Amino acid sequence: MTMQPKASHYINGRFVDDEQGQPLEVIYPATGEMIARLHAATPNIVELAVEAARAAQDQWARMRPADRGRILRRAADLLRERNDEIARIETMDTGKPMQETTVADPASAAEALEFFGGVVAGYHGEFIDFGGPFAYTRREPLGVCVGIGAWNYPIQGAAWKSAPALAMGNAMVFKPSENTPLTALALAEIYTEAGLPDGLFNVVQGFGQVGAALASHPVVAKVSLTGSVPTGKKVLSLAGSHMKHATMELGGKSPLVIFDDADLENAIGGAMLANFYSTGQICSNGTRVFVQNGIYDRFLDRLTERTKKIVIGDPLDPDTQMGPLINAAQHEKVTGYIDIGKAEGATLHHGGGVPHLQGFEGGFFVEPTIFTGVTDDMRIAREEIFGPVMSVLTFAEESEVIDRANDTEFGLSAGVFTRDLTRAHRVIAEIKAGSCWINHYNLAPAELPFGGFKQSGVGRENSLAALSHYSQLKSVYVETGDVESPY
Ligand code: NAD
Repeated sequence: MTMQPKASHYINGRFVDDEQGQPLEVIYPATGEMIARLHAATPNIVELAVEAARAAQDQWARMRPADRGRILRRAADLLRERNDEIARIETMDTGKPMQETTVADPASAAEALEFFGGVVAGYHGEFIDFGGPFAYTRREPLGVCVGIGAWNYPIQGAAWKSAPALAMGNAMVFKPSENTPLTALALAEIYTEAGLPDGLFNVVQGFGQVGAALASHPVVAKVSLTGSVPTGKKVLSLAGSHMKHATMELGGKSPLVIFDDADLENAIGGAMLANFYSTGQICSNGTRVFVQNGIYDRFLDRLTERTKKIVIGDPLDPDTQMGPLINAAQHEKVTGYIDIGKAEGATLHHGGGVPHLQGFEGGFFVEPTIFTGVTDDMRIAREEIFGPVMSVLTFAEESEVIDRANDTEFGLSAGVFTRDLTRAHRVIAEIKAGSCWINHYNLAPAELPFGGFKQSGVGRENSLAALSHYSQLKSVYVETGDVESPY
């Protein structure tokens, strides 16, 4: 099977390559086979992309926002028309099952393009009345923005960054994760086909140093990264040292709190979504599942029953519910954490092994795993694992669980399951996290801001908040009388 794109990079409306760049092999995580061979960007490629973006941005920014929006909405339609084709590329690139990619990945990208394409025409500055004189504010684009993606949601990441950037009149250079370079190229082709002028969305491939070159490039006005906390710290310092705007969407170790009165099946469904979807490789996952004592036994029995039924295997088979992890390094990391959990004294209640699947011996699979008897100080309850490993903890009191939920350096997400709505709102208000759910988990509609508190990041994606992060305010004072001057 091959997924070789026409070339590695997409600059100024066309595919380009520079074979001097470091080889970048794309691996199908279900088998370990190489499916494409690309090249990381050379300094020359980075310059070409930034220059193409710079040259195109000014005229784009002068267009009427509604006209920019129409192009994005056309691109959303094209994404939807090609949903299954793109989902297949995403499955080969990430190993996520088709059951997920056909409903979640290009679909979420299309939703972002449609939302920002529609809403930008109504996104205005303010009018401020001084009783005669007045002022107004203008929302102006930043210029050339850089997007750097993670590997778990490649096309979604490319769209969540480029849609608000482009809608606001910016140009973008996007660097996908080196693990998943393919679907950003498909998005670039779609933008061109939808009528986006050349140079406004460019894709350059590469490892961390290409990201760093972009994040410190003097022409670049903003960097938006999705990645781990250590990478976020490096990129934020680079951006800061060049006085660039920055959005950081980083990792988490989020709490999911299940009270005795919760609807049991919904709470279990939420906990499974919060730990096993995308093989657990989701930043906002609720990996610390706090279950109140009264519901604990029933919760665990049904959770185990339902987890046993998860179909793990061939990602291209429509019946498969869980695919492999992204690569060998992530597989080693996740199985390493399972060993750490056992060594720390947690009870390996379910899973924890590496399944042997015929025809997929070279894949990076791991079973959905449930640890019980987990305490707050264990590393499996404190560190982001980024795999299908659920830690179940118990609690007695509301105030106790709030303190324990907040006892983390992260603050991306949180969830609460209860039928007592007063309590649900009270608890969520106390939890220090940016993206929260009551009686559901992990939904991220384009209308809702998404992002973290504390180490989980700065800035927000989605919603009008993203438009504000891809623009700068200009204040204009207008005098309607004479200038009073002492001179
Ligand atoms: P990562 O930090 O290893 O890499 C992210 C991106 O940054 C990649 O494109 C990488 O090439 C680039 N990069 C690495 N070093 C760089 C540097 N010095 N300068 C510039 N760019 C650099 O993350 P990952 O392993 O691809 O993704 C997993 C992580 O991402 C997890 O921690 C997860 O929680 C987080 N994540 C967060 C969100 C969110 O929205 N908050 C979403 C998805 C993933």
